[in-house]
Amino acid sequence: QVSQKYTGIVEDCCCDYETVNSINGEVLYPLLQELVTTPFFRYFKVKLWCDCPFWPNDGMCRLRDCSVCECPENEFPEPFKKPGILSAHLMCQEEKPEASVDRTVDNRAFRGWIVTDNPWTNDDETDNDEMTYVNLQLNPERYTGYTGPSARKIWDAVYSENCPKYSAGEICQEKKVLYKLISGLHSSISIHIAADYLLDEVTNQWGQNPKLMHDRILRYPDRVQNLYFTYLFVLRAVMKAANYLEQAEYNTGNNEEDLKSQSLIRQLVHNPKLQSSCPLPFDEAKLWQGQSGPELKQNIQKQFKNISALMDCVGCEKCRLWGKLQILGLGTALKILFSVDNNNHQGLPLQLQRNEVIALLNLLNRLSESIKVVHESGDMFVNSVDRQIVDA
Ligand code: FAD
Repeated sequence: QVSQKYTGIVEDCCCDYETVNSINGEVLYPLLQELVTTPFFRYFKVKLWCDCPFWPNDGMCRLRDCSVCECPENEFPEPFKKPGILSAHLMCQEEKPEASVDRTVDNRAFRGWIVTDNPWTNDDETDNDEMTYVNLQLNPERYTGYTGPSARKIWDAVYSENCPKYSAGEICQEKKVLYKLISGLHSSISIHIAADYLLDEVTNQWGQNPKLMHDRILRYPDRVQNLYFTYLFVLRAVMKAANYLEQAEYNTGNNEEDLKSQSLIRQLVHNPKLQSSCPLPFDEAKLWQGQSGPELKQNIQKQFKNISALMDCVGCEKCRLWGKLQILGLGTALKILFSVDNNNHQGLPLQLQRNEVIALLNLLNRLSESIKVVHESGDMFVNSVDRQIVDA
């Protein structure tokens, strides 16, 4: 089992691997799986235009309208009823249907909450013509075939320009946190690719690709550790925002489903098992101490904003969708933990916009799925460690 290899406290967190696996499997995973199917949590507002601020578009972005549109016209909000956009079956990116976004949308589900910019992300959340409303359930994060220089350029930019891997003995805890958050998210994306892979293009057969899982994640203990770290970090943010999330309105006009969202959120944030076994998944109070704290925070905030802006350079529509959602989710966790004062003593009181809540909980769900996959492929991991030991 993976837990035999990973024992003790998750580095820089406050809970151990066994506890994470057990609370995830028994409590969080089942609750989150149900939560993300409710109308409130399954629609996400996103600008899918590819408008890369860092380098000229590399060709892939020009295919922005490349999607299979199967929704009846009357379900589209007015601004989207433009000539051209609804034209039947557009060629998909690189002719790969799995890379395109199905824009089926129910505009009743999206009611405007407050629109406040997130200090950690680059997105302008104001409603405008460029916003698309996406049903996440119809667009699972999975293998899309997006690879090669375009994908590599984004990850290289994320790592080398914004959060270079901290060297051994690196003392700046905050920089380490940023690197680990991104690496943990990267692990989760790779796990979803390997867990839902196009195994046979001719028969359109999808399934797990264990070799890819092993080659990209399981044979690198630090990538697995960073996944656990990111999960605990985001979980801490959700728990810290418990009262806000519990009192928020999950109103989509479907009373029964909205009550379900509310009840699932309550079960999640006030869960007795979670509170007794992992009451403080991550201790944010330790960060930004010392004289240089505020300046450091500003720098790291700028770096994270750059990462957020880089998502507009992702040349695959579905990857961009999930990249933007998950970076907004991380930005929301950072905002909850570092940019607001939950006790209302000083500073800004917590205020989240609807999209942030959706991104935060969908991100936690994705991380929870990844933790489950890694935990369940424990045997493969043991083999990989054994192989490394033998190789050494
Ligand atoms: P990559 O995953 O591209 O990794 C590049 C390099 O980063 C590696 O060589 C390694 O040195 C380092 N690295 C890898 N993992 C980690 C880690 N966890 N921590 C630290 N360093 C690491 N493809 C899809 O099929 N579906 C998607 O939904 C999808 N979403 C994407 C979203 C974003 C934002 C981006 C940038 C790319 C996405 N891709 C997606 C592409 C995918 O992530 C890979 O880039 C692609 O599959 C090629 O993989 P690779 O083996 O070259 O390594």
